[in-house]
Amino acid sequence: MGWLCRVRCILFALAVVLASGNARAERGVDLQPDLPIVHLAPWTHYFHDTGAVADFDSARAAFDTERFQPLPSQNPSFGFKEGAFWFHVRLTNHDPMEPRWLLVQQYALSDHIDVYASYADGRVVHRIGGDALAFNARSIRYRHPNFMLDLPVDQPVDVFVRVQSQSSMQVPLVLYTPSAFTEMSRDAQFAMGLYYGILMALFFYNLVLWQSLRDSSYGWYLLHVTAFGLVLFTLNGLGYEYLWPASPWLQDRSVPLSICLAQIGMQQFARSFLGLKVRWPLGDRVGLAMIAFFVAWGIASVFLPYRIATPVASLAVFASIVWIALEAVVVTRSGYRPARLFLLAWGMFLLGTGMFAAVAFAQLPKSFMTDYGVQIGSALEMLLLSVALGYRYSSLRNENERVVREAKEQLEHKVEQRTSELSNALAQLGDAHARLRESSQRDGLTGLHTRMHFHERFAPLTAYAREHRHPVTLLMIDLDHFKHINDEYGHLVGDECLRWAAHVIGQALRPHNALLARFGGEEFVAALPGKDLVEGLATAEAIRAALNTAPCEAGGRSLPLSASIGMHVLETHMQCTIETALQMADEALYRAKAEGRNCIRTSTPRAA
Ligand code: GH3
Ligand code: MG
Ligand code: MG
Repeated sequence: MGWLCRVRCILFALAVVLASGNARAERGVDLQPDLPIVHLAPWTHYFHDTGAVADFDSARAAFDTERFQPLPSQNPSFGFKEGAFWFHVRLTNHDPMEPRWLLVQQYALSDHIDVYASYADGRVVHRIGGDALAFNARSIRYRHPNFMLDLPVDQPVDVFVRVQSQSSMQVPLVLYTPSAFTEMSRDAQFAMGLYYGILMALFFYNLVLWQSLRDSSYGWYLLHVTAFGLVLFTLNGLGYEYLWPASPWLQDRSVPLSICLAQIGMQQFARSFLGLKVRWPLGDRVGLAMIAFFVAWGIASVFLPYRIATPVASLAVFASIVWIALEAVVVTRSGYRPARLFLLAWGMFLLGTGMFAAVAFAQLPKSFMTDYGVQIGSALEMLLLSVALGYRYSSLRNENERVVREAKEQLEHKVEQRTSELSNALAQLGDAHARLRESSQRDGLTGLHTRMHFHERFAPLTAYAREHRHPVTLLMIDLDHFKHINDEYGHLVGDECLRWAAHVIGQALRPHNALLARFGGEEFVAALPGKDLVEGLATAEAIRAALNTAPCEAGGRSLPLSASIGMHVLETHMQCTIETALQMADEALYRAKAEGRNCIRTSTPRAA
């Protein structure tokens, strides 16, 4: 087959299709008993009265002069248009059981609708509707404008519908028998009820959580659910039916207002849930700018005409939801786990809305799923967002617990470290103290105990001795003519002699467990526990002899040393203070000096 022939075939097929469409439109609809629901688009002609000046008679004249055209691709949507649209359809009822039919305009937002039913007998019945009228003006209280038509059997009726509206020009006209309408509306209302039931359950569930957890994300979620529910409520015509039936003014503003409110809720919820301020500051600022825009546009839409307020708000919605999806992607990629659920939820919403849009652009066949795509998608979205909120809360709590646990561990570690540092310091301090004490207990020159130490130790020593019924002998040892050594050989030699004498005395006392101290100058004191008079005398004698026999080698000379010793014995039955005991020994020493030095004298007990 040549290409010319092929083109001819296609043109012929096209002509047949167009002719049949026209023929269908010319002939009108034959209403049969087995067809209780009829979508009128294939049989509808329209005429665009751009100045909105035509009345019924001039519209009829326009129809008669064939200025009406079939709907383009049988699609009754024209977008936002000025002027009025006239639609015509011829109805012939062949069902004797159904003399009345209901004409429904399945788009809730048209402002002015005029329906003219022109009968064969010349009668014309005029009905008005649309949301510029109060809701109660409708034939049946239903969310879509509707008109009851009397259709006598086997008589053609020309129906003219005039629509003028600031909203989008959509006129999907459907004809129902009253019983078919009842069934359809019952199913539709049930689906709507289910949807708003889910939304309300989520609302109250999250309201309780918000009250108890005080997490602002829940508050924004509530705004989002409420405002989004309100948008669909408005678009479906339910807002007009149930919330503001007497106010066409509010009905006009409800669409842009609820759209703006929903976007504020969505954007604010996304900011708060995703923690944009921290995780993506740029995204956060853009989100804030969008919120500012929707606040401003929401206020403006109260004053602006519908045909400006709504299209701009709808366009902005597109930018807004795409931006939120982008925010979710960015935050998910940054590794914030709860954002994944958010993204999934948002995906559901976009999928549902996308399916709805695909039907509008004839890319998908009409079905329950596509018809209610926005509802199903948004219900799933809200459900998932509610789950995501719970997940986010629990991960926040886990994170908090982890931070607290780590801080506690760090604190414990620090305390441990500080404690060990402190105990080290204490040990060092103890050592220093011990060294200090030791040095205060020792005489710098001779290395013997100091007089102070002797005083400290003397009381326990005598107490112990008394307890065990032992005597204690006290010796006061004073080097003889020591001043002479100093004067003769100098202080250094004197010092050397003192050291030597201390050494010799110490050696002599070693076997006796004595407490020996330098008492001052060239004077020593010794306490001999367990030594009575005889043993004490023997020990004193040993000291004296040792000093005599061991001269001090100093300054290249051998210097002989001698000492006088005063002795006092503390008997077990006698109570005596250290001062008294020392005084007694000192007196004995004095006598030893007086009686020639280099000798030992004992005290005469005072009591005796
Ligand atoms: P006596 O036999 O009567 O005890 O005569 P003495 O010279 O030993 O006694 P005196 O009390 O008159 O003199 C004691 C001297 O001991 C006086 C002092 O210079 C000397 N002396 C005291 N302490 C020290 C010291 O630490 N080093 C030196 N080199 N001399 C000391
Ligand atoms: Mg002296
Ligand atoms: Mg002396």
